[in-house]
Amino acid sequence: MSGIQARLNAISAIIDYKPSHPPLNFSETKPTEVFGSNVFSNSVMKERLPKDVYKSLKKTIAYGEKLDASVADVVANTMKDWAIEKGATHFTHVFYPLTGLTAEKHDSFLVPDGEGGALAEFSGKLLIQGEPDASSFPSGGLRATFEARGYTAWDVTSPAFILENPNGTFLCIPTAFVSWTGEALDKKTPLLRSLQALNKEAKRVLKLFGVNTKLPITSFAGPEQEYFLVDRNFAFARPDLLLAGRTLFGAPSAKGQQFDDQYFGSINRRVLAFMMDVERELYKLGVPVKTRHNEVAPAQFEIAPIFEQGNLATDHNQLVMTTLQTVAKRYGMICLLHEKPFAGINGSGKHLNYSIGNAELGSLFDPGETPHANAQFLVFCAAALRALHKYGALLRATVGSASNDHRLGANEAPPAIMSAYVGEQLTDVFDQIKKGDLKSSKKKDAMNIGVDTLPPLPMDPGDRNRTSPFAFTGNRFEFRAVGSSHSIAGAQVALNTMMSESLDYVATELEKLGRVNKTQFNEGVQKLLQKMLKESDPIIFNGDGYSEAWHKEAKKRGLPNLKTTPDALPVLTSKEVVTLFSKYNVLSEAELKSRQETYLEQYVLTLDVEANLVIRMARTIFFPAAMRYQGQLAETCASLKAIGRDFKMVALEDVTTKLRSMQEAVDALEKLLAHEGGDTLAHAKYMCDKVLPAMNKVREYADALETVVADDLWPLPSYQEMLFIR
Ligand code: ADP
Ligand code: MG
Repeated sequence: MSGIQARLNAISAIIDYKPSHPPLNFSETKPTEVFGSNVFSNSVMKERLPKDVYKSLKKTIAYGEKLDASVADVVANTMKDWAIEKGATHFTHVFYPLTGLTAEKHDSFLVPDGEGGALAEFSGKLLIQGEPDASSFPSGGLRATFEARGYTAWDVTSPAFILENPNGTFLCIPTAFVSWTGEALDKKTPLLRSLQALNKEAKRVLKLFGVNTKLPITSFAGPEQEYFLVDRNFAFARPDLLLAGRTLFGAPSAKGQQFDDQYFGSINRRVLAFMMDVERELYKLGVPVKTRHNEVAPAQFEIAPIFEQGNLATDHNQLVMTTLQTVAKRYGMICLLHEKPFAGINGSGKHLNYSIGNAELGSLFDPGETPHANAQFLVFCAAALRALHKYGALLRATVGSASNDHRLGANEAPPAIMSAYVGEQLTDVFDQIKKGDLKSSKKKDAMNIGVDTLPPLPMDPGDRNRTSPFAFTGNRFEFRAVGSSHSIAGAQVALNTMMSESLDYVATELEKLGRVNKTQFNEGVQKLLQKMLKESDPIIFNGDGYSEAWHKEAKKRGLPNLKTTPDALPVLTSKEVVTLFSKYNVLSEAELKSRQETYLEQYVLTLDVEANLVIRMARTIFFPAAMRYQGQLAETCASLKAIGRDFKMVALEDVTTKLRSMQEAVDALEKLLAHEGGDTLAHAKYMCDKVLPAMNKVREYADALETVVADDLWPLPSYQEMLFIR
């Protein structure tokens, strides 16, 4: 098939596209009926479990009390009956290894009854503990391959659910994944540990303010998930999209996102049909998805849920990611979660809206109408700022990956410098505190639109700042550096632990006051606030985080700017971070080392795959295409010469030079790949400093060729086609 044929076929397939299944009908089956229908939820448990068993589970789920394992048999049996009623044949422990993906290993409910038949069985033991062979999951040297045993442990705080498939369903049980000595091999275990620490330290502070609450203090997370959709036919014709999840080549489309005509634009029919199907699947799983819209780049979209308790939100975000990918196939598309699928247009992130609190108290970051008079809020807010100031580099490290490196600091995402935006009102309150003269809060004005028939709108005391990595947005912080493909566990583990340390500090300082009256306590609080705010002042930045000036200013303020993953990951094993995580029993030094090693390894592997693909694609796709064109040009020149016509050979020379340069660049890259240096960190640095620039060089010439070679000879779907044909 000639080059253009593959592209034309893809386009006709898109024109002829028909959905493969009947449309959904939301008036027949209401979303309220669908919501949570595949979840072994609180109401299912209440209805089906014996009262005492339900009560015991509820204590663990709602109040964080120790799990009574003796109820497991009853729960397992009830869960099995419920699942089988819903068509399940198998069950699986679902876990979240360090790859950031979701892992499952299915087992059938069936066991032979010894008389030639079979029974459906599911015991408490199987519910509580699984033993997948852990040898193929990254452990970063935490255990040798011969000690392959790993265990999954039932996380009762995240409800079991049913996943559907055209040929049946299966029961999924969220679990933590640990080595046989109890070390964390996953994303969930440290998250749960960090939540425990956060609860303890936050309650100490609340107690000082005379606040008692039965429910644990937890983190809340609302992750806004961005993604791209590309027609499958195009993706199949692009080895880079298939294997690397991003385009390694591609000249820019003449029209990109210049007009800002995509953001919040009316949604394409096929895409909207896809979104509604995704939402329905997620409703069934009890994921409270709320918002959908077109994003800034062409072919880019967003889905956002209502925030939930941190652990649940994390599991739900994993479900969002897998659902987006599976449902996209039904609609003849692939969903790209990569942080930078296309050069030159915006990449995808995942804004992590983060707060702490509980259902009784709401968000502890809620300032109310008059923040200056809300000492408790000020303390929690100052604790967050202190945490960011002290451990910003750690937070940066949690979002380090080969794919996210393309995005951070690239004028579409916050820079690698961690700073906080707090808005006008809080800046003013903080200034008053720092001066030791706290009196007032700027008021919310009413906005004057100048049209009598329009309603009066309250004006927020602060505008938004989209360029800040850590922005205060009313009752939460929005951490904007998480990558679209990342698990949101890592950033939350860091935030919860940093917060724990800060709250521990606050509690310890205020406890030192001893038995004091209210006025004395308030004075103590003011003093402490003043100290904390003065100390963390360098990270407060309300200006343009994308600007060159900020990079200079941040350097002056002594803020770290860890630009690449190999710069950032070593922070995980720095002395301060090891001390921090050990103190709050979140991750041991060995566990931190294993994480650092695993993430570095993944960085190296990602770049290795990409570099090899660059070489292969350049040699077997672009070189032949450009040579054919070169041949045609040469022939034309020769024929013209033969009939005595003078012919300018500019085009031929241009193609020839570009081809030669590309070949040289490919050879250079190949040579660089053949050497590799030292331990994993050295290797990662080498890939970053040497291999990545060499890959970009090849791309530069290949993309230049794409802009001159005859279109009917160019074999790969172009940016224009992938981004604009749907
Ligand atoms: P944006 O205007 O920032 O794009 P979205 O509505 O897309 O806002 O997303 C905001 C996210 O923040 C939602 O997931 C929302 O539920 C979440 N959120 C709101 N309040 C809190 C809170 N107190 N803690 C954590 N997340 C919150
Ligand atoms: Mg949004």
